[in-house]
Amino acid sequence: MKIIACYALIILTILLAARTNKFVHATTSEDKYTRQRLEMVEGQIAARGVKDPKVLDAMRNIPRHLFVPEEYKNYGYEDQPVPIGCGQTISQPYIVALMTELLEVDGNSVALEIGTGSGYQAAVLSKIVKQVYTIEIIEELGIKAKKRLEEMKYSNVAVKVGDGYFGLPEHAPFDAIIVTAAANHIPPPLIQQLKPGGRMAIPIGTVYQVQNLMLVMKDKDEKIIVKNVLPVRFVPLLGKH
Ligand code: SAM
Repeated sequence: MKIIACYALIILTILLAARTNKFVHATTSEDKYTRQRLEMVEGQIAARGVKDPKVLDAMRNIPRHLFVPEEYKNYGYEDQPVPIGCGQTISQPYIVALMTELLEVDGNSVALEIGTGSGYQAAVLSKIVKQVYTIEIIEELGIKAKKRLEEMKYSNVAVKVGDGYFGLPEHAPFDAIIVTAAANHIPPPLIQQLKPGGRMAIPIGTVYQVQNLMLVMKDKDEKIIVKNVLPVRFVPLLGKH
């Protein structure tokens, strides 16, 4: 009897050890990123005053490390922009959150992004709005982002390669426009393509000067109101304009 009990105990111990081991193994790498992501949202974003639960939830759920090149994966959740190739960057998480919150979008909104880059900002918007259109001027980045967003099943994002300065008149007007590269003026075609009641977030300034994140609002009577939000640093808006 004692021998049987002893065997049963040994088998139970082996089974438990195997389960624990499997559990630890299955959770380590994904859990590392999940933990980093939750810390990013609490420590960098909510702590600095971003409150919109839709934005916080989207950023808690989107695997940002999959939008940065393999060699920078460990920097994916750091409080900084990260290189994505072609001299471009994925924006700092706080700036992504703040700009998204400024747009005041919801499930009925149609948004236009200028500067697809890695596709991360478009993915964040896609969790909140009905449809995202995004334009990238560097073909290599645009093609990569399109493939990544398709593979990750962000089915309400349409990526176009081209010069975003001119917007996307065929899908205008937009409830929200977000420009993720700094221009030295607000592009008139983008103002035109904003819906009455719509909002645009855009960094204004040159690479060598202080840039300011501006919130551009078109009221119901199509009057334009511009508010300076905070100083920022972005790569320049490219193109022949
Ligand atoms: N939103 C991106 C993300 O989530 O990864 C980061 C954008 S990065 C800071 C700026 C991007 O704007 C670059 O990929 C750059 O090639 C693109 N860009 C610059 N000028 C542009 C233009 N005129 N039209 C479209 N994209 C442009």
